[in-house]
Amino acid sequence: MAQVICKHCKNKDEKTFMVKGIHPKGYIHKTCILIFEEEQKQKEAEKVEWSLLYDYLIDLHRALNIPPRNIKRLRELKESKNISYKLILDAYRLCEDKVNWFIKTVLNDENNADAINKVITLVINSSLNEVFRNEQLRLRREEEIRNQMNDDPKEERREIIYKKKQSVANNITAFL
Ligand SMILES: [Zn+2]
Repeated sequence: MAQVICKHCKNKDEKTFMVKGIHPKGYIHKTCILIFEEEQKQKEAEKVEWSLLYDYLIDLHRALNIPPRNIKRLRELKESKNISYKLILDAYRLCEDKVNWFIKTVLNDENNADAINKVITLVINSSLNEVFRNEQLRLRREEEIRNQMNDDPKEERREIIYKKKQSVANNITAFL
């Protein structure tokens, strides 16, 4: 039996377990399709969040572009703290007055990589913790509301998970 590599999980397997036409680079396991599509969706959402943050920074610093050094720092911040670009943008907005004052008074409207870096540091120190805490609270409240809506939350949730699994199975059979 011919074996091919799944472009998603990079494992080799028999062709009968694979499909073509879903992953842009070639074969993918039928069982890898769902997770692959989920990851694609997340990547798309992240691209949108990044471009919103980028546009905001361009306006804030009245810059033509944001230097790679700053972009790298923002990406590392996102990854090391496991937060989203949206959360970083929220942090900028939360201390916007302070940032504008800082740019004008301390940085004298400079917008080179050093200046932009100083503002990143200011935002981290001023409001990143607060937006992070607010986000955690919001998620917890949402979870509580979800639980309150169910008489027997545990039972209900199990049923939802079961139903999800079923629809996952149905989706997969559509590709068989
Ligand atoms: Zn795979």
